[in-house]
Amino acid sequence: MKKKQIADLIQVPPHAHCLWCRKPIPVNKLFCSVKCEQAYNRWRRKKNLLSFAYLGVGFILMIIAIYIIGF
Ligand SMILES: [Zn+2]
Repeated sequence: MKKKQIADLIQVPPHAHCLWCRKPIPVNKLFCSVKCEQAYNRWRRKKNLLSFAYLGVGFILMIIAIYIIGF
């Protein structure tokens, strides 16, 4: 019984996890399906856009601060 459990542990093939749904997938893949890849890309684009917006807001606040201080 114990020997078989150890053998099972060793026999788990190397695998990766889908970047979107965390399902086990082959090592040379990033996603389990095209759907997951699209969802991940959409999410990443949104995240990039958001960080860009934050940068823009920070820049505008800086300009307002400089304007108020009077430089
Ligand atoms: Zn997936």
